[in-house]
Amino acid sequence: MSRSKKESIIIFDTTLRDGEQAPGFSMTIDEKLALAEQLARLNVDVIEAGFPRSSPGDFESVKKIARVVKGPIIAGLARAIDADIDSCAEALKPAKRKRIHTFIGTSEQHLQHQMRKSKPEALKMAVNAVRRAMSHTDDVEFSAMDAARTDRAFLYEILEAVIAAGASTVNIPDTVGYAIPSEFGELIAGIRDNVPNIKKAIISVHCHNDLGLAVANSLAAIQNGARQVECAVNGIGERAGNASLEEVVMAVRTRRDFFRADTAVNTKEIHKTSRLLVSITGVPVQPNKAIVGENAFAHESGIHQDGMLKERTTFEIMTPESIGLKKSKLVLGKHSGRHALRKRLEDMGFTLSDGELDHTFAKFKELADKKKEIFDEDLESLVGEEMAAKVKPVFELAHMQTTSGTNTIPTATVRLVRGKETLTDSSTGDGPVDATYRAIERITGVSGKLLSYNIRSLTLGKDAVGEVTLRVSIGDEVYAGRGSSTDVIEASAKAWLNAINKKAGAK
Ligand code: MN
Repeated sequence: MSRSKKESIIIFDTTLRDGEQAPGFSMTIDEKLALAEQLARLNVDVIEAGFPRSSPGDFESVKKIARVVKGPIIAGLARAIDADIDSCAEALKPAKRKRIHTFIGTSEQHLQHQMRKSKPEALKMAVNAVRRAMSHTDDVEFSAMDAARTDRAFLYEILEAVIAAGASTVNIPDTVGYAIPSEFGELIAGIRDNVPNIKKAIISVHCHNDLGLAVANSLAAIQNGARQVECAVNGIGERAGNASLEEVVMAVRTRRDFFRADTAVNTKEIHKTSRLLVSITGVPVQPNKAIVGENAFAHESGIHQDGMLKERTTFEIMTPESIGLKKSKLVLGKHSGRHALRKRLEDMGFTLSDGELDHTFAKFKELADKKKEIFDEDLESLVGEEMAAKVKPVFELAHMQTTSGTNTIPTATVRLVRGKETLTDSSTGDGPVDATYRAIERITGVSGKLLSYNIRSLTLGKDAVGEVTLRVSIGDEVYAGRGSSTDVIEASAKAWLNAINKKAGAK
């Protein structure tokens, strides 16, 4: 392979498929759509929108994304079974550019224990699946599941056969996260050297992070000729997750000199994409996470700060601006008007309908009364609430009052509105949040178990807005909720109600 000219690396995002199927990351159709639209702004090449045959909800969300999201190729996953492939094709129908991604287990472990098929049988199924998919679209990807543990000779054979059948992308997953970078790179080189028709297809990789090596393995694969990387925002996915999109992209971008390759990703959208995923799922990112962690660009030590002040490149290999991270700055105040708000939101990449803007403006005025200075992060949270409101709130918070303190019994009185009904109740608890949740449970009749609860301050200062993200299990399902307010008890109530409304709306 010529390494003189810059090669392009295709970014295949699987946040909505592999990421979403991990426990605690389920999203509603509207949430998936909002994330898919953001992935389009991020300019990924392929969005894997879901696994249509796995559930009616997955089918509907793939279909909706296929209809609405413009730009990237929309892909759907399908087992090597006719019914899966046809259902996938049906869901992808509205997409301008579509890809069917079909897969079969190829390792001894998968053939013997999961599929109970012989190698020739698996090969035949794979070829048939690719042919079937080719009858729906000419963009077909084949994955040899558990490729990293597959017998080499058989892997070469099945790849040659599916390429001959029309697959234009062959994906090499390290499904169980077992590979070591040099070994995985050598596997990719082996495929390039031993599959006779490999030049007719793009080599893709899909690495899992069980040993913390998903990104390293993906980069080793790029060095050895892989030209597509499957990855997920914030590295979410089955078990320890997938290769993190932002780490792969920024490694390649920062070290273009080394890889002689680049992606088409608009890195300035990385921070926003990561935050959107957090606010949708309620699962925070660890502070020291590469690229998108809160501390990723913080220089705390004296020596580092001194170096940074003299010359940024002393300790900075990439700028916070390159991932769209701006310094918090005062943007608007109490006297700012509707136009200023619209303008600022547009600069931040949010386009709201007139109705949504009216609603957000009212919220903005309310907030400006409580808090003198409004920052970008505050606006982001208002827009996030507007998005959350699309969940068609069944219950809305009208009023709440809590008492707590030393040697008092924490008590909450809550008033909710449902349609024209006003519902009021109160409860005690072991703290004001607990009392509030108990009162809401009494009113709504919906009881849930709190699985996680996180609170963060959006900006500096004692008057900052607090944002609560949480996950609640109600029956068999897990719902994420978020809410924000200058009063953290109120933010907690809003987050809980947001989750309950998703449950009520899903009925
Ligand atoms: Mn996977």
